Amino acid sequence: MSQGIASLRQAVRRLRNRLRPAPLILLYHRIADLPSDPQLLSVTPEHFTKHLEILRKIARPMELREMVRALQENNLPRRAVAVTFDDGYADNLHNAKPLLERFDVPATVYVSSGFVGASREFFPDELERLFLQPSTLPQKLCLTIKGNTHQWDLGEGAHYSADAYRRNCGWHVLKTENPTPRHKVYRSLCDLLYTLPECDQQTAIDTLMVWAGTESVCRPTHRVVTPDEICHLTKDGLVEVGSHTVTHPVLSALPVAAQRDEIQRSKVYLEGILGHPVTSFAFPYGTRSDYTAETVDIVREAGYQNACSNFEGLVQQGTDPWQLPRFLVRNWDGEEFGRYLMKWHDV
Ligand SMILES: [Zn+2]
Repeated sequence: MSQGIASLRQAVRRLRNRLRPAPLILLYHRIADLPSDPQLLSVTPEHFTKHLEILRKIARPMELREMVRALQENNLPRRAVAVTFDDGYADNLHNAKPLLERFDVPATVYVSSGFVGASREFFPDELERLFLQPSTLPQKLCLTIKGNTHQWDLGEGAHYSADAYRRNCGWHVLKTENPTPRHKVYRSLCDLLYTLPECDQQTAIDTLMVWAGTESVCRPTHRVVTPDEICHLTKDGLVEVGSHTVTHPVLSALPVAAQRDEIQRSKVYLEGILGHPVTSFAFPYGTRSDYTAETVDIVREAGYQNACSNFEGLVQQGTDPWQLPRFLVRNWDGEEFGRYLMKWHDV
């Protein structure tokens, strides 16, 4: 295709989208005001309020399931936006839901069922508590993961003072620099544990706790919902609960039988709590390399009616309802969020 035709097509698509913006799905994780958020998962309640205000003003908030139905009936409404949350942190109920109610914005919350009511945190949170909170740790760390031995020297970072914490607590993984050796270890361990099955992640975390002379605790600020809270989330129908597997693994790293188990068992567990079918699913991590075509088949066969991924795109004719694209939302103020929303609608 010549460059002239390509740019003309792009201009036509832009114009069409401006006149008739296609629907999109937003991806949030947490609504909380956390001093340390190295994975950039939290949006403050203040900023989330602004986001909802803007959605009410310039978009048409709609249920994800309704959007999927409209997609299948070739009847997608203009400017529709569906709100979703991954992982199932308790702040989705305590901080997000009251605001969703205030602005009457529906949402889908994807829960990793193995963490429901559990007294442990997701492994990146455990690592954040261990390495990025003030403490004194042994200087040398030697950890064997899957037969490979890794060694780190924390040097002066063995002691991490409250002052140093305050200086660095705004750090996150998108920054290229590591302000202390602890940040380097945190980053390496996140990468090393990411593709491991949950039992191996847990073994590594347990070893680290013994090394650090501490115990695994679940901070109230970092816990996942309890069974009771799942019922409260869905009471009144504004919030739908979907499945996000049992242990939040990289599904593509698991054998097919283990994938099936993760996908089916979380559905059965959540349905047992809710007393109605769970029909929405979100792939953990969700980029195209975190699941396979086989995973998508398993999700469909398990009886889900839609599934969300984690790559950008609009929901339009031809979009696969079992690989719905989403836009990841960061802790932006209202102005920035509005700018992104306009940009995304203009893709
Ligand atoms: Zn997740």
